[in-house]
Amino acid sequence: MPLLNTATLLTDAVDRGTGLAAVNLVNLESAEAITEAANRTGLPIVLQISQNCVQYHGGRLRPLAAAAAALAESSSANIALHLDHAEDPILAHEAIALGFGSVMYDGAALPYDDNVRTTREVIAHAHDRGVIVEAELGEIGGKDGAHAPGVRTDPGEAASFVADTGVDALAVAVGSSHAMTSRDAALDMGLIARLRSAVPVPLVLHGSSGVSDAGIRAAVRAGITKVNVATHLNGFFTRGVRDALSEDDALVDMRKYLGPGREAMTAGTMHLLRVLSLAPTPSEPSSRDSGMMVRSAPAS
Ligand SMILES: [Zn+2]
Repeated sequence: MPLLNTATLLTDAVDRGTGLAAVNLVNLESAEAITEAANRTGLPIVLQISQNCVQYHGGRLRPLAAAAAALAESSSANIALHLDHAEDPILAHEAIALGFGSVMYDGAALPYDDNVRTTREVIAHAHDRGVIVEAELGEIGGKDGAHAPGVRTDPGEAASFVADTGVDALAVAVGSSHAMTSRDAALDMGLIARLRSAVPVPLVLHGSSGVSDAGIRAAVRAGITKVNVATHLNGFFTRGVRDALSEDDALVDMRKYLGPGREAMTAGTMHLLRVLSLAPTPSEPSSRDSGMMVRSAPAS
């Protein structure tokens, strides 16, 4: 079906009290893995493209966006497209013109007043075109390796920020950090609950790769709605590729290793979707589930 507005998926998740998975693609195969996970589970998902990913592809957003939209259209699942961590308002405008359902404008590194002013400008442009905006307050650690974890979003400041900007979803710093490869981050559930009470818009958890399944479920129950995951699922893809390559030194056909990577990421994403649905879930896929070539279980 056609791409949905992210607002629809967020509202549905809030109404159901479940989490909404938002997973970053980096290439066609990872975009296929994410949409296939939604197809197989019948659960909604947000496909995300980050500004860093756009830079990796030579600054070109359009080819990735077109592929993501085409995959969503050929899918039976509810899928929205989101621009992740745009620090450049011009890129946000481009995404809006390309049909994204939401954009994250990340002004968290700016002083509070500048963050409010620039976020407002992006929101005015987006809302005129029916697109919602996510912003970040409290600078979640780990982005570009520049920020140490330990920062927390203050509920009072969060309430003021939402009121001052009119932002539609808020990424909060509650103990997770970007790009973690171990899943031992301890989230502050009490702070999530206080933020949930203080802020009228859906809360977004970034750096979720460092959080265990149980931690993610508890965070959703405490008040998180959108859960962003990149590194943890990249790990599935990469282990699938590595295993295929290490089993055959003579392998040259890219499909023979990208295919297992894609299948491993599909299985990992299906598991994440089930965790976020809060339905009882079996343990995470590990060795050779669904015929894929994954030798080792993901970190923890
Ligand atoms: Zn993030």
